[in-house]
Amino acid sequence: MKILLVEDDTALREALEELLLREGYAVIKASDVLSARNALGQEIDLVLLDVGLPDGDGVNLCKAWRSEGVQTPVVFLTAKDEELDVVRGLDAGGNDYVTKPFRMQELLSRIRAQLRRNQPEISRSGITLDPARLQASRNGEILLLTVTEYKILTKLISSRAIITRTALLEALWDADSRFVDDNTLSVHISRLREKVGGSHIKTVRGVGYQWVD
Ligand code: CA
Repeated sequence: MKILLVEDDTALREALEELLLREGYAVIKASDVLSARNALGQEIDLVLLDVGLPDGDGVNLCKAWRSEGVQTPVVFLTAKDEELDVVRGLDAGGNDYVTKPFRMQELLSRIRAQLRRNQPEISRSGITLDPARLQASRNGEILLLTVTEYKILTKLISSRAIITRTALLEALWDADSRFVDDNTLSVHISRLREKVGGSHIKTVRGVGYQWVD
């Protein structure tokens, strides 16, 4: 996933870049409206957009993009005294905003939420996953899954191959979730099996799990 980071405060821009890279995002940086406009020529999944920029205003930039048909999600980074601009910003087609100084974890979770919205539904063996709502259903009936179960299910359903226990644990280990260890993984899997039904989740002894249709 590639993020365009538009921020003229050098220290903040560098800190955000470091954070985003650490989370596995690719980052394109811009420090003003002109370079932001040029950067959007390439494939971008999300824009982090400062409101007050040296050669213009992020809100107007967002408005211009939307009027040109650009659908890329925009999250505004705004200073406290720019909050009124943010209302204008959301009207201008922005998707969300955070107010400086913000907690990095909060920003990351806003980013993830926006990126999920653009993911298509996945359907397999009568199970449908809706990434925008973090919701799973079976033949139209909603399954009551925990976030951890949902993540496991997504990982399994998205692949034809065996998913190793290590890969599953890595997928579950992010800022939002509590650490899941090897033992609790087995518990989550058995609960998930009950909820999903059938015998779709095959145990591959000593290796991991595999979804079978
Ligand atoms: Ca600024």
